[in-house]
Amino acid sequence: MILFLSTTEPGGGLSKIALEALGLAKSLGGELVAGLIGDAAIAIPGIRTLAVTGEAFGQSRYSTDAAAAEALVKAVNPQIVIAPQTMRTARALPGVAQRVGAAIDTHVTTFDGQRASRWYYKQRMEGTLTRDARPWFVLVESGIAPAFEPGADAGAVEQVSVTPATRTAVIGFQSPQSEQQTIRPDAKMLFVTGAGWTKKQKDGNTHMNDAARLILGFLEQSRASLGSSKSLVDMGGEGQSVLPFLSHLNQVGQTGATPRHPKGLATCCHGEEPHVVGWRFIKERRAINLDANCGWARGKADVVYVADAFAVMEVVNKMLGG
Ligand SMILES: Cc1cc2nc3c(=O)[nH]c(=O)nc-3n(C[C@H](O)[C@H](O)[C@H](O)COP(=O)(O)OP(=O)(O)OC[C@H]3O[C@@H](n4cnc5c(N)ncnc54)[C@H](O)[C@@H]3O)c2cc1C
Repeated sequence: MILFLSTTEPGGGLSKIALEALGLAKSLGGELVAGLIGDAAIAIPGIRTLAVTGEAFGQSRYSTDAAAAEALVKAVNPQIVIAPQTMRTARALPGVAQRVGAAIDTHVTTFDGQRASRWYYKQRMEGTLTRDARPWFVLVESGIAPAFEPGADAGAVEQVSVTPATRTAVIGFQSPQSEQQTIRPDAKMLFVTGAGWTKKQKDGNTHMNDAARLILGFLEQSRASLGSSKSLVDMGGEGQSVLPFLSHLNQVGQTGATPRHPKGLATCCHGEEPHVVGWRFIKERRAINLDANCGWARGKADVVYVADAFAVMEVVNKMLGG
């Protein structure tokens, strides 16, 4: 018995990562039941769907998410629980596992029903494990399974009643406006900026304003996700005048993130090993560098354009229509 457990989007639908987790759960075989939590829930065609719904369950809050998930697990009594790795599940499900005597593994990247694997030590080592404990909660990362495609035929949702008991009021969200949000995990492309954007160029001057205009212009038109080398974000941390939209969260590499995008383009970045290890999941890699001997040219990129990134990105942005 497998329980697919997820929060819903406003209105009851499922996000992309939830549909991927559902796709994985379905591929395992066995009896599958869906348990949904949200302000509303839409039945998943062909799958018995239970839900805890109501205004309180549409909000991201530990107490209500955990109470709803616990009720759904107890109603289904599954051996395996598959959930997408999201902010809400990552926060609530470890506590639920404790309440129901389950084992839990998070950030799982492959799962066949018996064995789970995940990365350790900043994604440098992959471990595969099995567990005897049941239920076993498995939170799966995005991009590891084809998304389930819900058809039109929606059955009925079986409501599971939970009385929301909480002292925590959600008063709203604070987040950057979407055009300022430069880290976009679902983007088709990673655009990496390196310290070269802040260095003196052939005229002997730095060109910070041009760099910011070209980078932001490209991000706006391509909707790429913005990554950075460590050198560039460290300059910002030291209070130097650098690109204000970069923070350590953008850093890719050994001591940074290991994002997953189909394509990547590195600009003004040398391509040193501690940076490039963060590219291990980027499938197609290109780089623009003035230096034909840069790290990218030594087998780390599929294509290296030996060129001035300022000039190239100017033309690229024009081609994109800006
Ligand atoms: C323990 C450890 C952990 C580390 N972890 C990380 C990490 O997680 N992530 C990370 O990024 N680094 C990491 N580093 C640092 C890493 O080794 C490099 O120092 C860093 O990545 C270099 O950044 P960069 O390529 O942007 O800068 P630089 O090395 O200064 O390279 C700038 C590049 O820009 C090019 N350039 C300049 N102008 C132009 C132009 N107009 N057009 C095209 N190209 C141009 C230059 O040719 C040069 O290649 C780590 C180092 C250590 C020791």
